[in-house]
Amino acid sequence: MPRPKIAIIGASIVGMACTTLLHRAGFHVTTFEQRKAGVADDRGVGLAFPCELIDQLKQQDLIDPDFSPLIIEHRELYAYDKEKDQERLLVTQPTHISTMNWGLLYQQLKKHLPSELVNYEYKLMKIERHNTSTHLIFNNGQVLEFDYVIFTDGSQSIGRTFLFPQAQPEFAGYIAWRTAIITDDSDKIQRLLQRQPLYGYSRGIGFSYLIPSKNKNEHTINCLIYDKITDNHPLFNGKMREANKNIPSHLLPESYLEYYRNLVQTEFPPFPRDLFSRNIPFIQTIRDTLIDSYYENKIALIGDASTLLRPVTGSGATKGLQDSLELMKQLRRTGNIDQAFTAWSLTQARAAKHLFELGKSLSDFYVMDTPDWTTVTSTEIQELWNSITKNANWYITKSAKN
Ligand SMILES: Cc1cc2nc3c(=O)[nH]c(=O)nc-3n(C[C@H](O)[C@H](O)[C@H](O)COP(=O)(O)OP(=O)(O)OC[C@H]3O[C@@H](n4cnc5c(N)ncnc54)[C@H](O)[C@@H]3O)c2cc1C
Repeated sequence: MPRPKIAIIGASIVGMACTTLLHRAGFHVTTFEQRKAGVADDRGVGLAFPCELIDQLKQQDLIDPDFSPLIIEHRELYAYDKEKDQERLLVTQPTHISTMNWGLLYQQLKKHLPSELVNYEYKLMKIERHNTSTHLIFNNGQVLEFDYVIFTDGSQSIGRTFLFPQAQPEFAGYIAWRTAIITDDSDKIQRLLQRQPLYGYSRGIGFSYLIPSKNKNEHTINCLIYDKITDNHPLFNGKMREANKNIPSHLLPESYLEYYRNLVQTEFPPFPRDLFSRNIPFIQTIRDTLIDSYYENKIALIGDASTLLRPVTGSGATKGLQDSLELMKQLRRTGNIDQAFTAWSLTQARAAKHLFELGKSLSDFYVMDTPDWTTVTSTEIQELWNSITKNANWYITKSAKN
């Protein structure tokens, strides 16, 4: 019997991992990516991962054995007293997570991927479902036929829209201002080594963490401020829709930069203020969407193409890679590909729903319905935090070494 033909749409972090794993397991897999080869090689941001996931990626030979992320052992939550220009440590939360550079991880996955499997500059335009196969129509006019299609085409997935037209990413009511600083300043590095400070302010939270740099003698500091968008927001005043747009730093209007600089100067204590103000930020709007199933009618969704999580969970790429590893286990366990996809869909979609809900609770805590940071006590914060994370299956809190 001929091997089923599988197409993968999208060759970013999740698409590359999936392609390599399926190919090595003997499947007939062809991957299509809309970009030119090499174009998406860095997004200039950091990722936090469970340490066990890094080990699994090494065991599966998806990344090199000497790939070394940094480790965070503590998260420290601070409030800022503007009058006294002083920060107040509210709580220290133990954790044990890896941080890495998005671009370095991407390069690693690409290095381990047989390059002949990926067709670049193939943008999928249309999907047609026929009796036993799916026809994919590309921007160059080609129509190709496959038995199975796996969509790893990110947050605006054409595959998700095809299977679940109602499940469009929805604005979560806040945005992220993001910057990254490359530094060899040992004081700053020491202060951030193994710990992640988070600073509550009136419209959300700002934080930074170290990630490795491409140049081994330097570090990158990844900075992020979540900013709640309300009708009376000083920048988006009455124009909520304007806030629901990603804007790269080179296109950031002067009025946005002015607002950002003022936010950093007035709302944060000296250490983060200095970090946040070093570079021009870019804006990432926060959106999410939930789907009930990862597999229908020989079409599967993985990564941001499936349930899209809020970044406050730090789990989007983690979930996508875990989904890919789990799919392989299920395919090995169950000889039948349809049964494997169906069983896998059930467990992964359920786990994603849990993280989706957690994303809402964490967003409330950190951004949408924050405690009054100026008056809240350490005990109150700890209680609130415990109530949110007590039943959460979340690597950030589960990984803490007792
Ligand atoms: C602020 C922020 C912080 C984050 N922090 C973390 C974190 O700490 N930990 C974590 O695990 N995750 C984090 N994430 C999430 C993580 O970045 C994403 O979940 C992950 O990068 C998604 O990877 P992906 O491969 O599914 O999708 P993408 O990286 O979006 O890739 C999709 C690919 O598909 C291609 N494509 C799209 N449409 C088509 C088409 N029609 N035809 C052909 N190709 C197509 C695209 O060009 C792209 O290459 C964060 C996200 C944000 C926004």
